[in-house]
Amino acid sequence: MNILVINCGSSSLKFQLIDSESEKCLGKGLCERIGEAKGVVNFTPDGGDKISLEKPLPDHKSAFDAVIAQLTDENTGIIKDMKEVGAVGHRVIHGGEYFSESVVIDDDVIKKIEACNSLAPLHNPANIIGIKASMEVMPGIKNVAVFDTAFHQTMDKKAYLYAIPNEYYEKYKIRRYGFHGTSHSFVSKRAAELVNKPYDKVKTIVCHIGNGASICAVENGKSVDTSMGLTPLAGVVMGTRSGDIDPSIVDVIAREENLTTADVIDILNKKSGVTALSGISADFRDISGAIENGDERAKVAMEAYAHAIVRYVGAYAAVMNGVDVIAFTAGVGENQIMLREMVMSHLEYLGVKINKEANNTRSKEIMISSEDSKVKVFVIPTNEELAIARETLELI
Ligand code: ADP
Repeated sequence: MNILVINCGSSSLKFQLIDSESEKCLGKGLCERIGEAKGVVNFTPDGGDKISLEKPLPDHKSAFDAVIAQLTDENTGIIKDMKEVGAVGHRVIHGGEYFSESVVIDDDVIKKIEACNSLAPLHNPANIIGIKASMEVMPGIKNVAVFDTAFHQTMDKKAYLYAIPNEYYEKYKIRRYGFHGTSHSFVSKRAAELVNKPYDKVKTIVCHIGNGASICAVENGKSVDTSMGLTPLAGVVMGTRSGDIDPSIVDVIAREENLTTADVIDILNKKSGVTALSGISADFRDISGAIENGDERAKVAMEAYAHAIVRYVGAYAAVMNGVDVIAFTAGVGENQIMLREMVMSHLEYLGVKINKEANNTRSKEIMISSEDSKVKVFVIPTNEELAIARETLELI
């Protein structure tokens, strides 16, 4: 069966058609600038050339129409008609405390996702628009919601409650939720397979480090702690996000710069992290290049990024009272050789021994610790779309 996977943002719509039997991506694309005068539709059929066209995309429904047109195009399409799509899987950022697993979408589910809007005001409304547009354009096809937060709902109160007055949790559900759950689940399951242990008998730390980054402690198949919080701003240093800071900083900057707290939070989300530390870019390809050219700030940015990961890995090894496997994934984790080496060189106390030759690879599933390393370390490329397709298939 073919599953259409949708990741809808406020002005964009990413899509992938996956054959659930072979688990192959048949084609993928991105609609951008939805709501602007000129929209863009990109589509790449598997093994084919990228097609890019300008097209007015006044709303998400028109973006879905464009997706269908691409998928079923007589010459460059990959299916004859939409009857060949069995279900649609939607990535939904925030499921609050309502959802600890994926669900088939009905009116009640939509209401609950809407009830989480205040927790993810940028993402959830866009996800709902995508779901509604999908239902309208493809009536009769089942839609499934797969939440970024669901995997972390297994966390215990001691890990998810903030030490702030309880009324804020009661009234506004302010607590740690964590994100990248689909990826942490996918990668930790694969890690257990790679060390030949049952999923419910292995302690894994997953470092999902891309532009956005989070670390997760997965003990016996359950997320027991994770670095992101109420929102994705918390945790390790990221491409443009600050990660953990003293909350008082928000007040000081707001007062000194005559800004609102919302302005400061925007700066912490979009103009901080590696971008701010390096003064160059959020992209580690640029940072590595600058380091090679002797740029001191770029070096510090890379070191601070690695330092934050080392800090969390150490914390989570302590939280689980041990660790069997550490997995690196996402853009930086899969490609940044130097960063992985920097992190691993600080984990010798855990019994981590690096295999430098194996570590000298990119975008490939591989063990990068030596055979006699007490803790095994892997690069495991994540595939959130495939994970969403698997969940969708299971539910329908
Ligand atoms: P997100 O999904 O959070 O937007 P990704 O997981 O796609 O981010 O990661 C993107 C980041 O991965 C880039 O900003 C860059 O820092 C890093 N990256 C991607 N490819 C490479 C590469 N070949 N070498 C080094 N870093 C890379």
